[in-house]
Amino acid sequence: MFITLEGGDGSGKSTQAEILESWLTALGRTVVRTREPGGTEFGTEVREIVLHSRGHISPRAEALLYAADRAQHIATKVRPALERGDVVVQDRYLDSSVAYQGAGRVLDAGEIRNLSLWAAEGLLPDVTILLDLDEDVARARLDGANKRFDRLEAEKSDFHRRVREAFLALAAAEPERFLVVDAALPPEEIAAVVRARVEELLVR
Ligand code: C5P
Repeated sequence: MFITLEGGDGSGKSTQAEILESWLTALGRTVVRTREPGGTEFGTEVREIVLHSRGHISPRAEALLYAADRAQHIATKVRPALERGDVVVQDRYLDSSVAYQGAGRVLDAGEIRNLSLWAAEGLLPDVTILLDLDEDVARARLDGANKRFDRLEAEKSDFHRRVREAFLALAAAEPERFLVVDAALPPEEIAAVVRARVEELLVR
C-alpha cells in the first residue's frame, strides 16, 4: 500500500507520518517511511541543490530536478518496497510538484503532472492525506518552533495561498484518492481520521 502525505510547511506531515508508521508497525505491517525530495542518496544531493539554490535555478530546471529525485526514488526504493508487500508512508509526492512547481512557480500544472507521472512510471498512491493548513496558522507554528520561518518570510504570502489552493483543487479533482484533514486539529484527532481511512484500505 502506498500512502502519501501532502500539505504546506508546518502542516504536521512528519508528525502524522511517524504516528502512522508506529500504528501500522504495531499491526504487524512492514513500513518504509520516506520522503521527497531526499528519499535516496541521490535524492539527498538533489534536495541540497534545490533547497539551497532558490532564485538561482530556472523554474523548469527546478521541476526537472524534483522529477529526477522522484524517478530514482520510485525505481530504487518505493516500487521494490511495494513489490515486497510493505506499506510505504511518504512525505510529499507528485501533488507537491504540481502545487509548488505548477501553481507556485507558474508552470503548467498538466505538464508538471505528466512529467511527474513519467518519472514515476505512472505510479499513483492508494491514498493521499492532505493536511490543509490556513496560512496564518502555518506562519504562527513555524515562528513558534523557530523553524523555517525565514523560508515563509522570504516567499510571498501569495505564493503560499496559490500552493494551498492548488492542493485543494487537486483533492477536489480526485476525491477517491484524497483525504483532506484540517491540520489545525490536535495531532491525535488527525491521526484518528487518518487511521480510519487507512483501515478501510487495509481490509479491502
Ligand atoms: O517538506 P519538506 O521539508 O521536504 O519541503 C521542503 C520544501 O521544498 C518545501 O517547503 C517546498 O517549498 C519545497 N518543495 C517544492 N516542490 C516539491 C517538494 C518540495 O518546491 N515537489
